Amino acid sequence: MSIETTANAAYLVAALLFILSLAGLSKHETARRGLSFGIAGMALALISTVALAIDHKPATTGIIMMAVAVLIGAAIGLWRARSVQMTEMPELIALLHSFVGLAAVLVGWNGYLEPELHGELTGSLLGIHHAEVFIGVFIGAVTFTGSIVAYLKLSGKMKSAPLVLPGKNVINAGIIVVFIVLTVWFVASPALWMLIVVTVIALALGWHLVASIGGGDMPVVVSMLNSYSGWAAAATGFLLGNDLLIVTGALVGSSGAYLSYIMCKAMNRSFISVIMGGFGIEASSGEGKDHGEHREVDVEGAAELLAGANSVIIAPGYGMAVAQAQYPVADLTRTLRDRGVDVRFAVHPVAGRLPGHMNVLLAEAKVPYDIVMELDEINDDFADTDVVLVIGANDTVNPDAAEDPGSPIAGMPVLHVWESTDVIVFKRSMAAGYAGVQNPLFFRDNTQMLFGDAKDRVDEILSAVKDSQGAKA
Ligand code: NDP
Repeated sequence: MSIETTANAAYLVAALLFILSLAGLSKHETARRGLSFGIAGMALALISTVALAIDHKPATTGIIMMAVAVLIGAAIGLWRARSVQMTEMPELIALLHSFVGLAAVLVGWNGYLEPELHGELTGSLLGIHHAEVFIGVFIGAVTFTGSIVAYLKLSGKMKSAPLVLPGKNVINAGIIVVFIVLTVWFVASPALWMLIVVTVIALALGWHLVASIGGGDMPVVVSMLNSYSGWAAAATGFLLGNDLLIVTGALVGSSGAYLSYIMCKAMNRSFISVIMGGFGIEASSGEGKDHGEHREVDVEGAAELLAGANSVIIAPGYGMAVAQAQYPVADLTRTLRDRGVDVRFAVHPVAGRLPGHMNVLLAEAKVPYDIVMELDEINDDFADTDVVLVIGANDTVNPDAAEDPGSPIAGMPVLHVWESTDVIVFKRSMAAGYAGVQNPLFFRDNTQMLFGDAKDRVDEILSAVKDSQGAKA
């Protein structure tokens, strides 16, 4: 059997392993197995590709360059994966998406400048090749700059508020029309200037699309860019004639699109509006409102409230992840439950900075799954709850989303924590959350602020609760 046939068979097995990996990743219990399938598939794909390259062009400088690139890439990948903080994961993912986009642009340009590398193409095959080049460069360039803006916004290097240029929808639609016209023209009679123009307008479109989306909608943007990066990889696969890249790209592209759709539904956002760069979203009103005075509580006061409570709900958010407060929070939960208090967790679908962020942290700290509730399961129970601890959450508990139609996060489902008897908010200051909007919850009569690092404060409350238990015994 030739190397080519063996490699193609290995590609098929790798594609199956990737599908099994995605299926495994859809549940907590099978996620580990899913990852193992993914790693095995990727190892098989890499080995087959290297074998194919050696078979085609034995012992050329290309092989040496490829080996060096793989070694450098693997070393950087290993170093980043080991050193990245959980809270930095979304920005790292955004940056990785930008590499896929850049690769698609470079492969597209190479496909135009060195057409002979892609075999003897004539007639309609040449036309298809040119369409692949043009579309690949366009999707790749949009993914590249879009992902860079997402990285800058997620890492706080750029403001998360939406950029609202006058006529922004006309700009986006105009670029799409120019792209379609140029694609037809390029297929009919290709010229270098057209490739330059499409690269520049696609880079601008990617930047503009993501810059126009506000902080609260960023979770959808991250999964949408994931989808774009999949389509960019599929386009590269067509150009390189690599079936596995086409299959893998299509898997990432369609699963990313589906995840974006699910997230839009969970956040009550229009899918079309988000993929079109905030189409229909206007500049927000409502900032600068006078919310009045906030009240503060100290550690002893908070411990006393907890000592007198029968039911407690904990609403965790990004701040719990930053402070790494999940371990003392889990200890506090155990201590209160041992005293007969009904303690549950309310997890918002976009709490933190990546889907499932809070579930991962709580599982890591060994909080039992059966007391961790989704928004829909617990939202009606706040009214019958004595104390809610909001630990580093902000946008996900903002009453304006439900009550102020002018708010930038209006319509997004939020945890109705304010309906409970008492609310204690753990954060370091009165600063706004990720979406950049003030939170009227902090000024409500039944809310008390407990300032400081969430981990330190929960540790102190835990000691106070244990001391009072010891004193009673
Ligand atoms: P937010 O990001 O709205 O707010 C987090 C709060 O934590 C801040 O107000 C901050 O206040 C506080 N905080 C930060 N560090 C600490 C600390 N060490 N100790 C105590 N408090 C701290 O959190 P939410 O989880 O409620 O909302 C998530 C936001 O992120 C939403 O807007 C969502 O759309 C967005 N997002 C979510 C993604 C996802 O997939 N989940 C992806 C991208 C964005 P202070 O500085 O005063 O301490």
